Amino acid sequence: MEQTILSAKLIVPSAVCTVCGTYTRNKSMVNYACGIMIDGKRCKGAWQSALRVDDWEECKFCHASDANCDSCNGEGWLFIRK
Ligand SMILES: [Zn+2]
Ligand SMILES: [Zn+2]
Repeated sequence: MEQTILSAKLIVPSAVCTVCGTYTRNKSMVNYACGIMIDGKRCKGAWQSALRVDDWEECKFCHASDANCDSCNGEGWLFIRK
């Protein structure tokens, strides 16, 4: 199936949890505790800001346009900071 070019792309996340690696687009969460429940336990990580353009790479499979993409978990972007 050909990729459809969509005008609206998924928004680049603005922070990443230091422990579980979950992304958030909520800038006000930066430096706060993650707190996401994983297997019944609360994640002890914190949201690290990732606001630089080169922190992120567009998903090669959905080109940041498919909220149901398996490759990027529907995020559209992959955190690539070394
Ligand atoms: Zn976390
Ligand atoms: Zn994708």
